[in-house]
Amino acid sequence: MLNRFERPQTIAQAARLLASGPWAVLAGGTDLYPAHVGRAVAAPLLDITAIAGLRGIRRDDRGWAIGATTTWTDVVRAELPPLFAALKAAAREVGGVQIQNTGTVAGNVCNASPAADGTPALIALGASVVLQSERGERELPIEDFVLGSRRTARAVDELVVAVRVPARSARARSAFAKLGGRRYLTISISTVAVVVDVDDSGAIVHAGVAVGSCSAVARRLPALEARLFGVAADSDLASLLDSADLAPLTPIDDLRGSAAYRRDATVTLVRRALREVVTT
Ligand SMILES: Cc1cc2nc3c(=O)[nH]c(=O)nc-3n(C[C@H](O)[C@H](O)[C@H](O)COP(=O)(O)OP(=O)(O)OC[C@H]3O[C@@H](n4cnc5c(N)ncnc54)[C@H](O)[C@@H]3O)c2cc1C
Repeated sequence: MLNRFERPQTIAQAARLLASGPWAVLAGGTDLYPAHVGRAVAAPLLDITAIAGLRGIRRDDRGWAIGATTTWTDVVRAELPPLFAALKAAAREVGGVQIQNTGTVAGNVCNASPAADGTPALIALGASVVLQSERGERELPIEDFVLGSRRTARAVDELVVAVRVPARSARARSAFAKLGGRRYLTISISTVAVVVDVDDSGAIVHAGVAVGSCSAVARRLPALEARLFGVAADSDLASLLDSADLAPLTPIDDLRGSAAYRRDATVTLVRRALREVVTT
């Protein structure tokens, strides 16, 4: 039975409560509540939506900080450079508009679903999560934070306060491609995000490629990222994909698709995203 509900106004108050024992952190509730249909949430609820300053996207000299209660609709509506095209496209794919209005970017990452649409885009962007507790603050790359299906490196007394995206040049671009069983309101069979940054001559100086729904945790394709380095961004990037680049993926057979179908679809999605990234 639910025995306690708190809605702190500050991060310090939230940290104090989290230090006192296990809480179920509640942001938009679009993962938390559906996971408890027909049964109460076992831990007391800590609603973080009243904490001042946690909502919104701020730019500083290191890049951007997406506050923990920033919703997918906030991302869609924010004025952001082309670097964020993949995250904005992912935002439009998270459920329907009602879900996007309340579901948060940080909640998507913390929930650690293999099919989370935001995580591949954030990994390709080189994002990290900022965790705060009474013990202090630490920052972990998303890949070190999401450890497995529904498993993160968050300690019980820690609150994710922001997702940070590092600065890139104004020329940086990104693209996102998702395949589900139907066009809208669908759980991903495969998702791909590509980020490229280029120098003055148009050569790629940074590439991030990540795939979701094809392993317990979204994975980078490091061999492809390395091959893209130094290549002219306006060349045929899609032809650079080698099927061996998908080696980090461990897709499974399930009701949404077989492992072989997921691999095949991912090849198409990566090529599609590589074509799109130079036209965004
Ligand atoms: C109908 C429907 C359709 C959906 N479609 C999609 C989809 O297409 N793609 C997709 O990726 N997802 C989808 N989702 C899942 C969900 O909407 C997203 O993952 C959303 O981003 C979760 O954010 P939230 O704020 O609602 O998280 P919550 O439900 O509030 O929290 C999720 C988990 O993260 C923890 N948590 C949240 N914030 C923090 C924090 N700041 N610090 C520490 N822990 C925290 C919570 O304790 C909980 O365990 C769908 C959900 C529904 C109900």
